[in-house]
Amino acid sequence: MNLPTADELRARVHRALDAIGAPGPLGEPGAPGLPASTPITGDVLFTVAQTDNYEAVVATAARAFPAWRATPAPARGAVVRRLGELLTAHRHDLATLVTVETGKIAAEALGEVQEMIDVCQFAVGLSRQLYGRTIASERPGHRLMETWHPLGVVGVITAFNFPVAVWAWNTAVALVCGDTVVWKPSELTPLTALACQALLQRAAGDVGAPPEVSGLLLGGPEVGEQLVDDERIALLSATGSVRMGQRVGPRVAQRFGRVLLELGGNNAAIVTPSADLDLALRAIVFAAVGTAGQRCTSLRRLIVHHSIADEVSARVVSAYRQLAIGDPFDSATLVGPLIHETAYRDMVGALDQARADGGQVIGGERHDAGQPGAYYVAPAVVRMPSSTAIVATETFAPILYMLAYDDLDDAIAVNNAVPQGLSSSIFTTDMREAERFIDGSDCGITNVNIGTSGAEIGGAFGGEKHTGGGRESGSDAWKAYMRRATNTINYSDQLPLAQGVHFG
Ligand code: NAD
Repeated sequence: MNLPTADELRARVHRALDAIGAPGPLGEPGAPGLPASTPITGDVLFTVAQTDNYEAVVATAARAFPAWRATPAPARGAVVRRLGELLTAHRHDLATLVTVETGKIAAEALGEVQEMIDVCQFAVGLSRQLYGRTIASERPGHRLMETWHPLGVVGVITAFNFPVAVWAWNTAVALVCGDTVVWKPSELTPLTALACQALLQRAAGDVGAPPEVSGLLLGGPEVGEQLVDDERIALLSATGSVRMGQRVGPRVAQRFGRVLLELGGNNAAIVTPSADLDLALRAIVFAAVGTAGQRCTSLRRLIVHHSIADEVSARVVSAYRQLAIGDPFDSATLVGPLIHETAYRDMVGALDQARADGGQVIGGERHDAGQPGAYYVAPAVVRMPSSTAIVATETFAPILYMLAYDDLDDAIAVNNAVPQGLSSSIFTTDMREAERFIDGSDCGITNVNIGTSGAEIGGAFGGEKHTGGGRESGSDAWKAYMRRATNTINYSDQLPLAQGVHFG
């Protein structure tokens, strides 16, 4: 396997950070601080200073809030518009950093940055559309209405696999809503975080907005835990594993803070006998192996009608054999590395368990990268006799379990029979099957004739059950970043009481 050297990757990082204007210098590997590593070679490239001034960062964002909330929403939108322009100008630089830190192939990294640009455009429009309702009052001379108000400081915790887009979903929307933001990125992706923060600081400076509207905290879960317990954090938007959400959710609820959880998925697609199999195959392969199976929306379970199960399985296996695995910067590559050794071990463990449960495993072997710390694997297809505990577990790796079904209602029940409820798809040309699926799937995302991953920013993104119930990005997800006040205004000279109550 032909991979870039650690020095070549360091040079790419330097060029990208210099172009973006992110603060340097970066420390040598092994220096005290947060290791900035790459799954491409498994090397630590730099050391980044870990946040040691939590109190100052949060206090600054809290102090900036009153002036920011008093800034008209369309003026707040100007910062986000400028951020979108800077992201457009630096999309290749930022995408390079995403590929270095996550191992995501270059095309997908660029797509992630495009998602940031798209959400900035959405949020700028939103800055003139934070609508409340006017409601018919039962009392004469009264107006009943809803107004929306900023919350305060929004804490954003993000996962390694979407190191920049998830920050942008939260930050672009929170800023136009009048909140200030403090971000705790994944400890695995500090370089992309420095770059995003630098671009936002520049955007604020360019339009004359206070840079204090956005703060950055670099560190591990212990830094995230400080946000969890911090009364100044009005909303904590946390993206990551179910395990993390189970720790975060109850603790924020304990202090009556708001929480927006975007947690793990275990996403299924149903393939019916009427499906356009050429289209389905392309969608299935992208959804199952994109980002090496490390998307929250990755396709993990394929539920195929028994009459076409052998054909679909053979075609998926054949497509998998043609996948180029290797250097994510190489434009021919479709599957990059797993994030780290633990991810590889989890994959091996899941495949062993699937075999023990009667599954037939095809693929899944490690490719020799000539680098002991880099984990490149062939995506695996596992034909399972039935759904078992391992099938119901989110293993963050390219494993696609295949199950056969006879009756669509049973297939929908299998789709729903996992703790998570993020994304789901059906491949069918039968309108009745499509509508039954949309009605029956219990997921936050329910698609027809496209895969489970690759959502557009215009819709609200999120899932049910152990996925956490949060919604981010488009549609009316902005309401999570504001509080609603119901206002009754009496413009008469009488004081009629609601429900016709007479008092005195
Ligand atoms: P992770 O849970 O290990 O870490 C996510 C973030 O949470 C990191 O910033 C981490 O430092 C922080 N964290 C961990 N424990 C914490 C605690 N106790 N208190 C506060 N913060 C804590 O997840 P990961 O390995 O980075 O990402 C993969 C997981 O994220 C998968 O389960 C994937 O499905 C999920 N994910 C979900 C979505 C979504 O939108 N639903 C998007 C991306 C990833």
